[in-house]
Amino acid sequence: MKITVLGIGYVGLVAGTCLAELGNDVICADIDKKKIFQLNNNIMPIYEPGLEEMVKRNKKEKRISFTTDLDYAVKSSEVIFIAVGTPPGKDHRADLSFVKAVAKTIGKNLNGYKVIVDKSTVPVGTADEVERIIKETSKGGNFDVVSNPEFLREGSAINDFLIPDRVVIGSKTEKARKIMESIYRGITRADKPILFCDIRSAEMIKYASNAMLTTRISFMNEIARLCEKVGADVKIVSKGMGLDNRIGPRFLQAGVGYGGSCFPKDVQALAMTMEDNGVNSKILKAVEEVNKEQKASLLPKIKKLVPALKGKTIAIWGLAYKPKTDDMREAPSITVINQLQKEGAKINAFDPEAEEQAKKILKNINYFTNPIDTLKGCDCLVIVTEWNEFRDIDKNKIKQNLKSPNIIDGRNIYEPKEMKELGFNYIGVGR
Ligand code: NAD
Repeated sequence: MKITVLGIGYVGLVAGTCLAELGNDVICADIDKKKIFQLNNNIMPIYEPGLEEMVKRNKKEKRISFTTDLDYAVKSSEVIFIAVGTPPGKDHRADLSFVKAVAKTIGKNLNGYKVIVDKSTVPVGTADEVERIIKETSKGGNFDVVSNPEFLREGSAINDFLIPDRVVIGSKTEKARKIMESIYRGITRADKPILFCDIRSAEMIKYASNAMLTTRISFMNEIARLCEKVGADVKIVSKGMGLDNRIGPRFLQAGVGYGGSCFPKDVQALAMTMEDNGVNSKILKAVEEVNKEQKASLLPKIKKLVPALKGKTIAIWGLAYKPKTDDMREAPSITVINQLQKEGAKINAFDPEAEEQAKKILKNINYFTNPIDTLKGCDCLVIVTEWNEFRDIDKNKIKQNLKSPNIIDGRNIYEPKEMKELGFNYIGVGR
């Protein structure tokens, strides 16, 4: 099948590459000239495990191409995926200007029947708006708009796309439904179904799913606060809860709060959609508030071990909002580092992938190329992102290199008992 993907960000690049891997002819189009130049020269604009090899292979086999010529890209394919960003607008509603812009481009270039696939995360009702814009700009034409939200996670995006828990497709017509089914045939298995539904329900499934995941995170962070007060261990509490089949173990880890390009903005956008429809979003407001507090909760812990931060040096392990990505959007590390700098502390930092992205956001940081060197002369180590390489690192080396044996573990990757026996002043989350 000939497929065009408009918007080659995290989702567009992964989706386009995976669709090419499945044997489709894919044109990836973006207005960002630098990004397209990079991709045409085998330079990946993002870090995602396995992506580079897959892009190179599909380029070599001529199944994928990259262009800034959106008109040509739209005209060339029968199926057009919209994967542009939907960042938070000033009022916390999703900013749909990029979606609307590509809808116009599609309308202008409608040269025969096309399925327009909304893959961007968009508020309920957006597919109707996309349909309206295309109708208006194309002056009549043959097309269907479907909603096909994306559930991939950064860091395991390729796997998530190729072996998804579910594929959701909201469609009004049988014709579009059949085309979508044939695109995903290579991916879905009997136990991992395609859920076909109406368009508005598909749009809602995406937001409601992210809202549920963030609710679990904030819920556990609140439980962690109580665990700290009453002497319980949130890691054991979440394990005990997760053994209940009705609850399950995922997304029950207390930590430094959620970040990233999706959770924060999607919770806010859903809350605004509720407000617009006269539904009071008490839960979502609380989820967000707890998360904000959680991101700020490491500073008081650091101050317990290093009361006067002025002139002190703090080592930060992990800057990306989660491991296996270089994405810094809404990363908890930004909150912690800003707080520390305000208190007059100096920052040494290490992240295996995110340094380049971090440099665009954070100032006056001493970056290091390995975790141990980061610790030299530091008064405290703060673990913000749980990269695997921190888990089994030689703890004696940590102790030898730190000026004082202080550790704040924002992700509970170490065991408090072991750390205390090794002579660390150690504080985790909810333990
Ligand atoms: P991104 O910001 O990484 O990329 C968006 C891309 O769209 C950019 O490259 C930008 O240049 C391009 N673009 C903007 N206007 C354009 C236009 N008129 N024509 C062509 N290209 C244009 O965004 P992302 O993280 O890939 O997210 C895309 C959508 O997918 C969002 O709605 C997001 O909420 C959703 N989503 C993201 C993830 C994730 O993990 N990042 C997961 C699921 C869903």
